[in-house]
Amino acid sequence: MDKLPVWFLDVADAKRVSPHMARITLTGDDLADFVYAEPDQQVKLYFPRPGQAVPRLPEPNADGNLMAWYQAYNEIPDDERPWMRSYTIRARDAERNTIDIDFVLHEDAGPATRWAASAKPGDTIGVFGPSTMFARPVALSHSIGAADWVLLAGDDTALPAMSTIIEWLPEDAVAVAYIEVNGTEDEQRFDTRGTLTTHWLHRADAKPGHSDALVEAVRDAVFPEGSVFAWLGGESGAVRALRRHLVNDRGIDKRAIDFAGYWRLKLTQDDAPTEEDMAEAMERVADAQTSSA
Ligand SMILES: Cc1cc2nc3c(=O)[nH]c(=O)nc-3n(C[C@H](O)[C@H](O)[C@H](O)COP(=O)(O)OP(=O)(O)OC[C@H]3O[C@@H](n4cnc5c(N)ncnc54)[C@H](O)[C@@H]3O)c2cc1C
Repeated sequence: MDKLPVWFLDVADAKRVSPHMARITLTGDDLADFVYAEPDQQVKLYFPRPGQAVPRLPEPNADGNLMAWYQAYNEIPDDERPWMRSYTIRARDAERNTIDIDFVLHEDAGPATRWAASAKPGDTIGVFGPSTMFARPVALSHSIGAADWVLLAGDDTALPAMSTIIEWLPEDAVAVAYIEVNGTEDEQRFDTRGTLTTHWLHRADAKPGHSDALVEAVRDAVFPEGSVFAWLGGESGAVRALRRHLVNDRGIDKRAIDFAGYWRLKLTQDDAPTEEDMAEAMERVADAQTSSA
């Protein structure tokens, strides 16, 4: 097995792309070995505890044993173990030896949001991935190629992933995106070779996560004719509601829907999975077995 993809990267630049989105550019010698394939590449980030200039992480073992590494990570005392959160690589610049990660600056900020809001050049962060060990290989080219059009629906946490998909779309692709952000000031522009229609949804009550704007907009939408491939990402309850709607009300085949709960209302990423999370995970395993059979 190969060495585990564990890296320490330094902040090269930190800026705001919109009032509620920070773009952190990371660099480091390690990036030379980075295996990056667009689009929608997830990584785990490790944020230093107070007093740590560099997050304390176990040495990646030479035999690539993930379970042993993760066990060693869990054995680090609570107050020294870096916080772990999932993020998406927004862009990779091989020439400049950098990657960009876009962080939503949400209310009730957890460690990831606090770190991003105050990150400055020279700060160090731990990165695990990209790796098929925790992210399914992306079969987008197959799924998108097999469908007449693509539905993208998500909130601002899924905006980095959706942006990479939109930028990667081939010329003949037709895509419709429903994206929930705080307001007009948090909308972004996209470059694409495909034909894209974007519907921006604004949170009605300015309380992130409490809005039904995304789910309602997709429920009310008149879809283009033909077969669809759907990609859903965002708050877990909203993603579940969207998937149920597509399957039960629109009759879309579950295998034509790629979905992921990116965060959970009132729960941090450290909190244990809920029964719904477990049911969803079991369904994913069953779906993966069906599609590989
Ligand atoms: C595969 C994957 C890829 C992701 N990619 C990105 C990405 O590229 N950019 C990005 O910004 N996020 C992304 N996320 C979501 C991100 O991991 C979560 O939002 C994470 O919880 C943020 O960590 P935190 O430490 O700020 O908050 P936590 O400590 O996890 O949570 C603290 C509180 O904030 C709430 N909360 C968490 N996220 C939000 C939110 N977005 N809006 C409102 N309230 C929230 C929680 O419910 C909790 O009450 C991704 C998640 C997954 C699973």
